[in-house]
Amino acid sequence: MGLMTPEEYRKSLRDNRVVYYEGEKVKDVTTHPALKVCVDTAAIDYEMAEMPEHRDLAVVKHPKTGEPISRYYYTPTNAEDLLKRHELMVTATRLGGGVIPFSHDIGADAMNAVNITANMMGNKEYIERAEKYRYHLQKNDLSVACAMSDVKGDRVERPSSPKQGHPDYYVHVVDKNEKGIVVRGAKAHITAAAYCNEILAVPCRAMEEADKDYAVAFAVPVDTKGVIQVLHPVQHKRSKLEFPIDLPIRNHTDSLIIFDDVFVPWERVFLCGEWKFAMHLVYNFAYLHRHTAASYRVPSAEGFLGAAVAMAEYNGISNVPHIKEELTDLVIYVNTLKSLARASCIDFATHGGIPIPNPVLTNMAKYHFATNFHQCIKLVQDIAGGLLVTAPTYQDFLNPDIGDFIKKYLGGKSGVTAEARLRMFQLLRRMMTVENETVAVHAEGSFQSQRLMIYVEALREMAQYKKQVEYAAGIIDKL
Ligand SMILES: Cc1cc2nc3c(=O)[nH]c(=O)nc-3n(C[C@H](O)[C@H](O)[C@H](O)COP(=O)(O)OP(=O)(O)OC[C@H]3O[C@@H](n4cnc5c(N)ncnc54)[C@H](O)[C@@H]3O)c2cc1C
Repeated sequence: MGLMTPEEYRKSLRDNRVVYYEGEKVKDVTTHPALKVCVDTAAIDYEMAEMPEHRDLAVVKHPKTGEPISRYYYTPTNAEDLLKRHELMVTATRLGGGVIPFSHDIGADAMNAVNITANMMGNKEYIERAEKYRYHLQKNDLSVACAMSDVKGDRVERPSSPKQGHPDYYVHVVDKNEKGIVVRGAKAHITAAAYCNEILAVPCRAMEEADKDYAVAFAVPVDTKGVIQVLHPVQHKRSKLEFPIDLPIRNHTDSLIIFDDVFVPWERVFLCGEWKFAMHLVYNFAYLHRHTAASYRVPSAEGFLGAAVAMAEYNGISNVPHIKEELTDLVIYVNTLKSLARASCIDFATHGGIPIPNPVLTNMAKYHFATNFHQCIKLVQDIAGGLLVTAPTYQDFLNPDIGDFIKKYLGGKSGVTAEARLRMFQLLRRMMTVENETVAVHAEGSFQSQRLMIYVEALREMAQYKKQVEYAAGIIDKL
């Protein structure tokens, strides 16, 4: 079938998917007023493939057949491939005004993790299934969401623990026959699943033998019987109180996906009972996905720095010492993120025969972005001043009785209009929402999950450094 056009992508979403938004069943996600914004955001991936200036980044040749395929589904072979993928995500996010399309990237991370884990297991059947599934995605240019996060119930109790309120807090196999398996459970916060073609479900934690029915990974088309999605509302239009902007609004929603006894044929099952490998699948997905996170956060971090520079200039404080200090902190914030994201590609590791971004650096990149995000906002708020929250609205600006006062009194340094300042405050308010703060903290795993991986992955290097100082101290006689 080959690459889909953006229109073909939209058409492919008009199927029997079961999606609820604000308590109502959605007939067509492509025309629903809120979800259309999300679909259009996701379609950027497909648009890029048609843009001459981005085609080489978005599309590569299939290594065996030579067919054009999305770069997301190309198995990386070296640092350059990883860097190109990073660049693709940064560019796509810039085109999305700071929002990544999410139609391929998370799903591709999960698919690569499935592939790596099958290779690590050395299980021929799974390797073949993973390859076939990859080819299915490549050939049909399908969009894929990754459903990893189970709803979990009591976080501390194991999935199979009798102390869990019921056995379905983690997705698990409830039946099997010669044709396939039946799964039950629910996954939360699954980004873009309502407007993807496929859902690739993987476990979200390490498992023990007693949890083996929960060690399950599989893929289903989104409109499979028994798959029910409940979405959270998204901002999809500008309020009349905001200055109009001639650019599309970009946004995403995330789904609570209920797997209500869903049948999955064997050819789409990638893990089923091999409990020891659930952890490998989780870790490999996390390494890959945190790199995706670090990549798409680059334009967002740049946006905060850009807005801080603009506000400092508008308010005439660019050369004030403490403002320069704050801008310096923001420069460090942005460039540490960019450097870690790129360095993790250059200094890659190989898992299951496939290069992956360096696990320590990639977790550090995501952790750095997330743990300093509120601090970054604090700095921008200090530079911007209180009008960030007390500014009059666009309607006040338009009102002939008061508009001229607003234009006169809310200007900045000489030559900076009130409108420029009010527009920048408006943009910043959209960037500084509680939603964005929570996304920074929790999306792609909470702080502790990154710290844990940094520690575990750094054990070998820590041992090496210990050896170096023992040698220097004359405690051991060779390195
Ligand atoms: C906007 C957004 C988009 C997302 N998109 C996706 C997606 O596309 N696919 C997907 O699979 N997931 C997605 N996620 C889920 C994300 O990975 C989770 O939110 C994250 O892993 C935290 O899980 P939680 O929300 O259940 O919080 P919790 O797990 O409840 O975490 C809350 C706190 O409890 C701690 N905690 C939890 N369990 C334990 C434990 N056993 N022991 C000790 N401490 C514990 C955590 O460290 C944290 O401090 C998304 C999340 C957000 C916010």
